[in-house]
Amino acid sequence: MPYPFAHSMFFMYCFSAVAVYTTIRSNLHHTLTLKDNLHILLLILVGGVSSLLPDIPAVYNYFVNSNLHHTMLWIIPTHSLFFSYFAFMAAVIIGYIVYRDIDRAAFLGVFAEAAFLSHLLLDDIAEGGLTYLFPLYNETISVFSFVDVKFSSVDFFYYNVACFVAIFFISCVMIMAIFALNKLGFEFEYRSIK
Ligand SMILES: [Zn+2]
Repeated sequence: MPYPFAHSMFFMYCFSAVAVYTTIRSNLHHTLTLKDNLHILLLILVGGVSSLLPDIPAVYNYFVNSNLHHTMLWIIPTHSLFFSYFAFMAAVIIGYIVYRDIDRAAFLGVFAEAAFLSHLLLDDIAEGGLTYLFPLYNETISVFSFVDVKFSSVDFFYYNVACFVAIFFISCVMIMAIFALNKLGFEFEYRSIK
């Protein structure tokens, strides 16, 4: 279990690196208003909290049971795509309260979803497997185990497909974060070179 701070940093500096770069650049050029900075602060808070949400049972267990068990909320594994729905919906509700705009609220939800999924990926790297597909499949799966392949005794086709699916999943989480940031005020586009 990586420290909570590591999850927030992982999401902010890896999956949202373009936003960090853009914010620093805009601040250096003094183009951000107070309203812009408050909007970015909201993104940092929603992203930070969502990136910690899968470990939320640890808070309850710490105070009630004096342990740090952090993977189950009643019978629901919190490190699963199923539980990520709660991060998405919580961010949509917060987004709607703040923006009064259902589209922006939905994009904030996508951003929170990406933050939640980045937590699963970091835990997967550290612990080697999570119950991603609960309740469809209750055994642990490690996305990264499909990327690591020895050259002896392997099914070439199987491992190439598995590797593609694993990297496609990681890429999807990154693109979700970039897509949401783009819809929430960050500009990313190709400028033709002269
Ligand atoms: Zn975790």
